[in-house]
Amino acid sequence: MFRKLHFKLTVYMGIVLVLFMAFISAGIYNFTRIVFEDGSKELMRSEALRIYAYRNSMRFDFRIGPNTYLQNMGPSMTIIGTQKLDASHIIYNGNMDKIYAEEDNAEIADEIKPLAEKSLEKQEDSYVVKKVGRLNYRIYTRYFDDVNGQSVVQVYQNMINEEIMWSFLSTVLRITGFSGTAILLVISFIFTGKSLKPVRETWIRQKEFVADASHELRTPLTVIQTNLDVVMSDDQGAVADNGVWLDNAYSETRVMAKLIDQLLILAKADANEEKLDISEFSLSEVVENVCQNMEAIAEKKGIDFHMNIEDGFKIKADYDKIRRLIVILVDNAVKYTEKGSVTVNLFADKNKKKIFTVEDTGIGIAKKDLDRIFDRFYRADKARHREGGTGLGLSIAKWIADVHKFTLTVESTINVGTKFTVKMP
Ligand code: ADP
Repeated sequence: MFRKLHFKLTVYMGIVLVLFMAFISAGIYNFTRIVFEDGSKELMRSEALRIYAYRNSMRFDFRIGPNTYLQNMGPSMTIIGTQKLDASHIIYNGNMDKIYAEEDNAEIADEIKPLAEKSLEKQEDSYVVKKVGRLNYRIYTRYFDDVNGQSVVQVYQNMINEEIMWSFLSTVLRITGFSGTAILLVISFIFTGKSLKPVRETWIRQKEFVADASHELRTPLTVIQTNLDVVMSDDQGAVADNGVWLDNAYSETRVMAKLIDQLLILAKADANEEKLDISEFSLSEVVENVCQNMEAIAEKKGIDFHMNIEDGFKIKADYDKIRRLIVILVDNAVKYTEKGSVTVNLFADKNKKKIFTVEDTGIGIAKKDLDRIFDRFYRADKARHREGGTGLGLSIAKWIADVHKFTLTVESTINVGTKFTVKMP
Protein backbone atom coordinates (compact mmCIF):
# COMPACT_ATOMS: atom_id res chain seq x y z
CA MET A 1 0.00 0.00 0.00
CA PHE A 2 2.76 2.46 0.95
CA ARG A 3 4.83 1.51 -2.11
CA LYS A 4 1.87 2.44 -4.29
CA LEU A 5 1.30 5.67 -2.38
CA HIS A 6 5.00 6.53 -2.63
CA PHE A 7 4.90 5.94 -6.37
CA LYS A 8 1.67 7.91 -6.78
CA LEU A 9 2.97 10.90 -4.84
CA THR A 10 6.15 10.91 -6.95
CA VAL A 11 4.06 10.81 -10.14
CA TYR A 12 1.94 13.76 -8.94
CA MET A 13 5.10 15.60 -8.01
CA GLY A 14 6.50 14.76 -11.45
CA ILE A 15 3.45 16.22 -13.18
CA VAL A 16 3.77 19.41 -11.14
CA LEU A 17 7.50 19.55 -11.93
CA VAL A 18 6.99 19.02 -15.67
CA LEU A 19 4.33 21.76 -15.76
CA PHE A 20 6.52 24.05 -13.72
CA MET A 21 9.58 23.44 -15.88
CA ALA A 22 7.55 23.86 -19.09
CA PHE A 23 6.12 27.11 -17.73
CA ILE A 24 9.55 28.42 -16.70
CA SER A 25 11.24 27.39 -19.99
CA ALA A 26 8.44 28.83 -22.13
CA GLY A 27 8.56 31.97 -20.00
CA ILE A 28 12.32 32.40 -20.41
CA TYR A 29 12.13 31.68 -24.15
CA ASN A 30 9.23 33.99 -24.91
CA PHE A 31 10.39 36.77 -22.62
CA THR A 32 13.86 36.75 -24.22
CA ARG A 33 12.29 36.80 -27.69
CA ILE A 34 9.97 39.69 -26.85
CA VAL A 35 12.78 41.73 -25.30
CA PHE A 36 15.08 40.92 -28.21
CA GLU A 37 12.41 41.74 -30.78
CA ASP A 38 11.61 45.07 -29.13
CA GLY A 39 15.30 45.90 -28.94
CA SER A 40 15.84 45.00 -32.59
CA LYS A 41 12.88 47.11 -33.69
CA GLU A 42 14.20 50.07 -31.74
CA LEU A 43 17.69 49.56 -33.18
CA MET A 44 16.36 49.48 -36.73
CA ARG A 45 14.33 52.60 -36.13
CA SER A 46 17.47 54.43 -34.95
CA GLU A 47 19.45 52.95 -37.83
CA ALA A 48 16.93 54.38 -40.30
CA LEU A 49 17.35 57.81 -38.74
CA ARG A 50 21.14 57.47 -38.68
CA ILE A 51 21.20 56.51 -42.35
CA TYR A 52 18.88 59.33 -43.29
CA ALA A 53 20.94 61.90 -41.39
CA TYR A 54 24.17 60.49 -42.77
CA ARG A 55 23.03 60.55 -46.38
CA ASN A 56 21.66 64.06 -46.03
CA SER A 57 24.90 65.31 -44.57
CA MET A 58 26.80 63.70 -47.44
CA ARG A 59 24.57 65.49 -49.88
CA PHE A 60 25.14 68.73 -48.06
CA ASP A 61 28.91 68.25 -47.94
CA PHE A 62 28.87 67.47 -51.63
CA ARG A 63 26.82 70.53 -52.36
CA ILE A 64 29.21 72.90 -50.63
CA GLY A 65 32.17 71.28 -52.34
CA PRO A 66 35.28 69.35 -51.32
CA ASN A 67 37.84 70.46 -48.75
CA THR A 68 35.44 72.74 -47.06
CA TYR A 69 35.49 73.10 -43.35
CA LEU A 70 32.32 71.12 -42.96
CA GLN A 71 33.51 68.23 -45.06
CA ASN A 72 36.78 68.04 -43.18
CA MET A 73 34.77 67.71 -40.06
CA GLY A 74 33.39 64.51 -41.52
CA PRO A 75 29.80 63.43 -41.96
CA SER A 76 27.47 64.88 -39.41
CA MET A 77 26.53 61.35 -38.35
CA THR A 78 29.24 61.68 -35.69
CA ILE A 79 26.67 63.66 -33.78
CA ILE A 80 24.25 60.73 -33.89
CA GLY A 81 26.67 57.92 -33.19
CA THR A 82 29.13 55.83 -35.10
CA GLN A 83 27.81 52.36 -34.40
CA LYS A 84 26.47 50.74 -37.53
CA LEU A 85 23.84 48.01 -37.53
CA ASP A 86 24.59 44.98 -39.66
CA ALA A 87 21.65 45.65 -41.99
CA SER A 88 21.02 46.66 -45.58
CA HIS A 89 19.13 49.79 -46.45
CA ILE A 90 17.46 51.58 -49.34
CA ILE A 91 16.43 55.21 -49.58
CA TYR A 92 13.53 56.22 -51.79
CA ASN A 93 12.54 59.78 -52.59
CA GLY A 94 8.98 61.05 -52.79
CA ASN A 95 8.62 59.59 -56.32
CA MET A 96 9.70 56.18 -55.12
CA ASP A 97 13.01 56.46 -56.96
CA LYS A 98 15.76 54.56 -55.32
CA ILE A 99 18.25 57.32 -54.46
CA TYR A 100 20.59 55.20 -52.40
CA ALA A 101 20.95 51.52 -51.66
CA GLU A 102 23.33 49.46 -49.66
CA GLU A 103 22.10 45.95 -50.15
CA ASP A 104 23.35 42.46 -50.70
CA ASN A 105 20.44 41.23 -52.77
CA ALA A 106 18.48 43.34 -55.27
CA GLU A 107 15.64 40.78 -55.44
CA ILE A 108 14.84 41.38 -51.84
CA ALA A 109 14.66 45.10 -52.38
CA ASP A 110 12.03 44.53 -55.07
CA GLU A 111 10.04 42.20 -52.88
CA ILE A 112 9.85 44.62 -50.01
CA LYS A 113 9.31 47.74 -52.12
CA PRO A 114 5.50 47.60 -51.67
CA LEU A 115 6.10 48.21 -47.96
CA ALA A 116 7.96 51.42 -48.79
CA GLU A 117 5.18 52.50 -51.15
CA LYS A 118 2.59 51.87 -48.48
CA SER A 119 4.63 53.80 -45.93
CA LEU A 120 4.92 56.75 -48.32
CA GLU A 121 1.25 56.62 -49.12
CA LYS A 122 0.15 56.44 -45.49
CA GLN A 123 2.96 58.72 -44.33
CA GLU A 124 3.84 56.47 -41.45
CA ASP A 125 6.49 53.99 -40.33
CA SER A 126 6.04 50.26 -40.52
CA TYR A 127 7.80 47.27 -39.05
CA VAL A 128 7.30 43.71 -40.30
CA VAL A 129 8.95 40.32 -40.21
CA LYS A 130 8.51 38.70 -43.61
CA LYS A 131 9.69 35.60 -45.41
CA VAL A 132 11.52 36.57 -48.55
CA GLY A 133 12.87 33.67 -50.54
CA ARG A 134 14.14 31.12 -48.06
CA LEU A 135 14.83 33.49 -45.21
CA ASN A 136 12.89 35.60 -42.79
CA TYR A 137 13.62 39.32 -42.89
CA ARG A 138 13.02 42.05 -40.35
CA ILE A 139 12.05 45.21 -42.24
CA TYR A 140 11.74 48.68 -40.78
CA THR A 141 10.36 51.32 -43.12
CA ARG A 142 10.69 54.88 -41.90
CA TYR A 143 8.95 57.81 -43.44
CA PHE A 144 10.57 61.29 -43.51
CA ASP A 145 9.16 64.60 -44.59
CA ASP A 146 11.36 67.67 -44.11
CA VAL A 147 13.14 70.46 -46.07
CA ASN A 148 14.53 67.80 -48.38
CA GLY A 149 11.03 66.68 -49.22
CA GLN A 150 9.46 63.25 -48.69
CA SER A 151 11.63 60.19 -48.47
CA VAL A 152 11.45 56.65 -47.16
CA VAL A 153 14.32 54.76 -45.59
CA GLN A 154 13.93 50.99 -45.57
CA VAL A 155 16.29 49.07 -43.29
CA TYR A 156 16.24 45.28 -43.42
CA GLN A 157 18.27 42.37 -42.21
CA ASN A 158 17.91 38.64 -42.48
CA MET A 159 17.24 36.69 -39.31
CA ILE A 160 19.25 33.57 -40.04
CA ASN A 161 21.71 34.08 -37.15
CA GLU A 162 18.92 34.78 -34.74
CA GLU A 163 17.01 31.72 -35.83
CA ILE A 164 20.09 29.62 -35.14
CA MET A 165 20.33 31.34 -31.75
CA TRP A 166 16.64 30.75 -30.96
CA SER A 167 16.80 27.10 -31.88
CA PHE A 168 19.96 26.77 -29.78
CA LEU A 169 18.24 28.49 -26.83
CA SER A 170 15.19 26.26 -27.18
CA THR A 171 17.41 23.12 -27.30
CA VAL A 172 19.33 24.29 -24.22
CA LEU A 173 16.09 25.02 -22.36
CA ARG A 174 14.64 21.64 -23.37
CA ILE A 175 17.75 19.76 -22.24
CA THR A 176 18.03 21.63 -18.93
CA GLY A 177 14.26 21.30 -18.45
CA PHE A 178 14.27 17.53 -19.00
CA SER A 179 17.44 16.83 -17.02
CA GLY A 180 16.32 19.23 -14.24
CA THR A 181 12.95 17.47 -14.04
CA ALA A 182 14.65 14.06 -13.96
CA ILE A 183 17.01 15.13 -11.15
CA LEU A 184 14.18 16.76 -9.17
CA LEU A 185 12.05 13.63 -9.64
CA VAL A 186 14.77 11.45 -8.13
CA ILE A 187 15.16 13.93 -5.25
CA SER A 188 11.40 14.10 -4.75
CA PHE A 189 11.20 10.27 -4.77
CA ILE A 190 13.80 10.17 -1.98
CA PHE A 191 12.15 12.94 0.06
CA THR A 192 8.63 11.54 -0.39
CA GLY A 193 9.95 8.20 0.89
CA LYS A 194 11.50 9.96 3.88
CA SER A 195 8.35 11.88 4.73
CA LEU A 196 6.21 8.76 4.37
CA LYS A 197 8.41 6.82 6.79
CA PRO A 198 6.83 8.17 10.03
CA VAL A 199 3.34 7.76 8.51
CA ARG A 200 4.14 4.13 7.64
CA GLU A 201 5.53 3.51 11.12
CA THR A 202 2.44 5.01 12.77
CA TRP A 203 0.21 2.98 10.49
CA ILE A 204 2.06 -0.26 11.31
CA ARG A 205 1.91 0.56 15.04
CA GLN A 206 -1.80 1.29 14.75
CA LYS A 207 -2.37 -2.00 12.95
CA GLU A 208 -0.47 -3.90 15.63
CA PHE A 209 -2.41 -2.03 18.28
CA VAL A 210 -5.76 -3.03 16.81
CA ALA A 211 -4.60 -6.66 16.41
CA ASP A 212 -3.28 -6.78 19.99
CA ALA A 213 -6.42 -5.12 21.36
CA SER A 214 -8.68 -7.63 19.61
CA HIS A 215 -6.55 -10.48 20.90
CA GLU A 216 -6.56 -9.11 24.46
CA LEU A 217 -10.35 -8.68 24.35
CA ARG A 218 -10.87 -12.19 23.01
CA THR A 219 -9.06 -13.82 25.94
CA PRO A 220 -11.41 -12.67 28.77
CA LEU A 221 -14.38 -13.18 26.45
CA THR A 222 -13.38 -16.82 25.92
CA VAL A 223 -12.96 -17.29 29.68
CA ILE A 224 -16.42 -15.78 30.29
CA GLN A 225 -17.98 -18.03 27.62
CA THR A 226 -16.31 -21.18 28.97
CA ASN A 227 -17.45 -20.46 32.54
CA LEU A 228 -20.97 -19.59 31.45
CA ASP A 229 -21.08 -22.80 29.33
CA VAL A 230 -20.40 -24.81 32.50
CA VAL A 231 -23.16 -22.93 34.36
CA MET A 232 -25.62 -23.44 31.50
CA SER A 233 -24.92 -27.15 31.27
CA ASP A 234 -25.97 -27.53 34.93
CA ASP A 235 -29.77 -27.56 34.47
CA GLN A 236 -30.59 -28.36 38.06
CA GLY A 237 -27.99 -26.32 39.96
CA ALA A 238 -28.80 -23.09 41.82
CA VAL A 239 -26.72 -19.85 41.49
CA ALA A 240 -24.88 -20.71 44.68
CA ASP A 241 -23.88 -24.12 43.26
CA ASN A 242 -22.19 -22.39 40.34
CA GLY A 243 -20.61 -19.56 42.36
CA VAL A 244 -17.04 -20.37 41.25
CA TRP A 245 -17.87 -20.24 37.53
CA LEU A 246 -19.92 -17.11 37.91
CA ASP A 247 -17.15 -15.46 39.95
CA ASN A 248 -14.64 -16.30 37.23
CA ALA A 249 -16.88 -14.85 34.58
CA TYR A 250 -17.53 -11.74 36.66
CA SER A 251 -13.86 -11.05 37.34
CA GLU A 252 -13.13 -11.36 33.62
CA THR A 253 -15.77 -8.72 32.87
CA ARG A 254 -13.80 -6.44 35.20
CA VAL A 255 -10.62 -7.15 33.24
CA MET A 256 -12.50 -6.36 30.04
CA ALA A 257 -13.89 -3.14 31.44
CA LYS A 258 -10.40 -2.04 32.53
CA LEU A 259 -8.97 -2.94 29.16
CA ILE A 260 -11.64 -1.01 27.27
CA ASP A 261 -11.16 1.96 29.56
CA GLN A 262 -7.39 1.95 28.90
CA LEU A 263 -7.89 1.45 25.17
CA LEU A 264 -10.14 4.50 25.08
CA ILE A 265 -7.52 6.61 26.86
CA LEU A 266 -4.83 5.57 24.37
CA ALA A 267 -7.10 6.03 21.37
CA LYS A 268 -7.92 9.57 22.51
CA ALA A 269 -4.24 10.19 23.20
CA ASP A 270 -3.37 9.07 19.66
CA ALA A 271 -6.06 11.30 18.18
CA ASN A 272 -4.81 14.21 20.33
CA GLU A 273 -8.34 14.48 21.68
CA GLU A 274 -7.41 14.05 25.31
CA LYS A 275 -7.09 17.63 26.56
CA LEU A 276 -5.31 18.46 29.80
CA ASP A 277 -7.53 19.89 32.50
CA ILE A 278 -4.91 21.86 34.41
CA SER A 279 -5.47 22.95 37.99
CA GLU A 280 -3.34 23.53 41.07
CA PHE A 281 -3.56 20.82 43.71
CA SER A 282 -1.55 19.19 46.48
CA LEU A 283 0.50 16.36 45.04
CA SER A 284 1.36 15.22 48.58
CA GLU A 285 -2.32 14.67 49.33
CA VAL A 286 -2.93 12.73 46.11
CA VAL A 287 0.05 10.42 46.74
CA GLU A 288 -1.01 9.87 50.36
CA ASN A 289 -4.57 9.11 49.33
CA VAL A 290 -3.53 6.56 46.69
CA CYS A 291 -1.08 4.93 49.11
CA GLN A 292 -3.72 4.58 51.82
CA ASN A 293 -5.89 2.60 49.40
CA MET A 294 -2.99 0.39 48.36
CA GLU A 295 -1.70 -0.20 51.87
CA ALA A 296 -4.57 -2.56 52.63
CA ILE A 297 -3.86 -4.70 49.57
CA ALA A 298 -0.15 -4.80 50.43
CA GLU A 299 -0.98 -5.84 53.98
CA LYS A 300 -3.20 -8.63 52.67
CA LYS A 301 -0.25 -9.91 50.63
CA GLY A 302 2.03 -9.66 53.64
CA ILE A 303 4.29 -6.98 52.28
CA ASP A 304 5.49 -3.90 54.14
CA PHE A 305 4.31 -0.59 52.78
CA HIS A 306 6.45 2.50 53.52
CA MET A 307 5.61 6.09 52.74
CA ASN A 308 8.05 9.03 52.87
CA ILE A 309 5.90 11.84 51.58
CA GLU A 310 6.91 15.45 52.15
CA ASP A 311 3.94 17.68 52.89
CA GLY A 312 2.74 20.68 50.99
CA PHE A 313 3.95 19.86 47.46
CA LYS A 314 1.69 21.71 45.07
CA ILE A 315 1.72 21.26 41.33
CA LYS A 316 -0.22 22.59 38.35
CA ALA A 317 -1.32 19.58 36.32
CA ASP A 318 -4.27 17.44 35.25
CA TYR A 319 -5.50 16.02 38.55
CA ASP A 320 -7.17 12.85 37.18
CA LYS A 321 -4.24 11.93 34.99
CA ILE A 322 -1.63 12.47 37.69
CA ARG A 323 -3.70 10.35 40.06
CA ARG A 324 -3.91 7.64 37.41
CA LEU A 325 -0.13 7.74 36.91
CA ILE A 326 0.47 7.30 40.65
CA VAL A 327 -2.09 4.47 40.85
CA ILE A 328 -0.47 2.60 37.94
CA LEU A 329 3.01 2.74 39.48
CA VAL A 330 1.98 1.89 43.06
CA ASP A 331 -0.45 -0.80 41.90
CA ASN A 332 2.27 -2.46 39.79
CA ALA A 333 4.72 -2.37 42.69
CA VAL A 334 2.26 -4.17 44.95
CA LYS A 335 1.17 -6.49 42.14
CA TYR A 336 4.66 -7.64 41.22
CA THR A 337 6.01 -8.03 44.75
CA GLU A 338 5.45 -11.26 46.65
CA LYS A 339 7.65 -10.58 49.69
CA GLY A 340 9.55 -7.68 51.16
CA SER A 341 8.35 -4.15 50.79
CA VAL A 342 7.03 -1.34 48.66
CA THR A 343 8.33 2.19 49.37
CA VAL A 344 6.80 5.37 48.03
CA ASN A 345 8.83 8.62 48.24
CA LEU A 346 7.95 12.21 47.42
CA PHE A 347 10.68 14.79 47.95
CA ALA A 348 12.51 17.71 46.35
CA ASP A 349 16.04 17.18 45.09
CA LYS A 350 18.85 19.71 45.43
CA ASN A 351 17.66 21.49 42.27
CA LYS A 352 14.22 21.89 43.86
CA LYS A 353 12.76 19.40 41.39
CA LYS A 354 9.93 17.31 42.78
CA ILE A 355 10.76 13.63 42.68
CA PHE A 356 8.26 10.82 43.08
CA THR A 357 9.59 7.27 43.34
CA VAL A 358 8.02 3.85 43.83
CA GLU A 359 10.47 1.14 44.89
CA ASP A 360 9.74 -2.52 45.45
CA THR A 361 11.57 -5.71 46.29
CA GLY A 362 9.54 -7.73 43.82
CA ILE A 363 10.24 -9.95 40.85
CA GLY A 364 12.14 -7.26 38.91
CA ILE A 365 12.38 -6.77 35.18
CA ALA A 366 15.02 -8.42 32.98
CA LYS A 367 17.46 -6.09 31.22
CA LYS A 368 16.18 -7.16 27.79
CA ASP A 369 12.64 -6.13 28.75
CA LEU A 370 13.49 -2.77 30.27
CA ASP A 371 13.57 -0.92 26.94
CA ARG A 372 10.16 -2.24 25.94
CA ILE A 373 8.37 -1.97 29.25
CA PHE A 374 6.54 1.23 28.19
CA ASP A 375 5.36 -0.31 24.90
CA ARG A 376 1.67 -1.05 24.54
CA PHE A 377 0.60 -4.58 25.53
CA TYR A 378 4.15 -5.43 26.50
CA ARG A 379 4.35 -7.78 29.44
CA ALA A 380 7.82 -8.81 30.53
CA ASP A 381 7.26 -12.44 31.34
CA LYS A 382 3.64 -13.47 30.98
CA ALA A 383 4.18 -16.77 32.73
CA ARG A 384 5.58 -15.17 35.88
CA HIS A 385 3.16 -12.29 36.03
CA ARG A 386 -0.26 -12.17 37.51
CA GLU A 387 -3.02 -12.76 35.05
CA GLY A 388 -5.47 -9.95 34.54
CA GLY A 389 -2.80 -7.40 33.62
CA THR A 390 -3.40 -5.63 30.34
CA GLY A 391 0.10 -4.49 29.48
CA LEU A 392 -1.25 -0.97 28.89
CA GLY A 393 -0.72 0.61 32.32
CA LEU A 394 2.88 1.71 31.83
CA SER A 395 2.27 3.04 28.31
CA ILE A 396 -0.52 5.20 29.72
CA ALA A 397 1.76 6.28 32.62
CA LYS A 398 4.47 7.23 30.13
CA TRP A 399 2.02 9.17 28.00
CA ILE A 400 0.74 11.08 31.06
CA ALA A 401 4.33 11.91 32.09
CA ASP A 402 5.19 13.02 28.54
CA VAL A 403 2.19 15.32 28.10
CA HIS A 404 3.05 16.98 31.40
CA LYS A 405 6.73 17.20 30.36
CA PHE A 406 7.72 15.02 33.30
CA THR A 407 10.32 12.29 32.95
CA LEU A 408 9.45 8.72 33.85
CA THR A 409 12.36 6.30 34.21
CA VAL A 410 12.82 2.76 35.48
CA GLU A 411 15.69 0.86 37.09
CA SER A 412 15.34 -2.81 37.87
CA THR A 413 17.21 -5.97 38.71
CA ILE A 414 15.56 -9.28 38.21
CA ASN A 415 14.51 -10.93 41.49
CA VAL A 416 15.84 -7.96 43.46
CA GLY A 417 13.38 -5.18 42.78
CA THR A 418 12.25 -2.27 40.67
CA LYS A 419 12.27 1.50 41.03
CA PHE A 420 10.16 3.89 38.96
CA THR A 421 11.05 7.60 39.17
CA VAL A 422 8.97 10.57 38.03
CA LYS A 423 10.82 13.92 37.83
CA MET A 424 8.74 17.06 37.75
CA PRO A 425 10.05 20.53 36.91
P1 ADP B 1 0.19 -4.84 33.34
O1 ADP B 1 -1.24 -4.58 33.23
O2 ADP B 1 0.63 -6.12 32.71
O3 ADP B 1 0.73 -4.65 34.70
P2 ADP B 1 1.78 -2.55 32.70
O4 ADP B 1 1.91 -1.78 31.46
O5 ADP B 1 1.43 -1.82 33.93
O6 ADP B 1 0.82 -3.73 32.39
O7 ADP B 1 3.17 -3.23 32.92
C1 ADP B 1 3.81 -3.84 31.86
C2 ADP B 1 4.72 -4.93 32.33
O8 ADP B 1 5.82 -4.36 33.04
C3 ADP B 1 4.10 -5.87 33.31
O9 ADP B 1 3.41 -6.90 32.65
C4 ADP B 1 5.30 -6.41 34.05
O10 ADP B 1 5.91 -7.42 33.29
C5 ADP B 1 6.24 -5.22 34.08
N1 ADP B 1 6.20 -4.47 35.34
C6 ADP B 1 5.56 -3.29 35.56
N2 ADP B 1 5.79 -2.86 36.82
C7 ADP B 1 6.57 -3.77 37.41
C8 ADP B 1 7.18 -3.90 38.70
N3 ADP B 1 6.98 -3.00 39.66
N4 ADP B 1 7.93 -4.98 38.94
C9 ADP B 1 8.14 -5.90 37.99
N5 ADP B 1 7.63 -5.86 36.74
C10 ADP B 1 6.85 -4.81 36.47
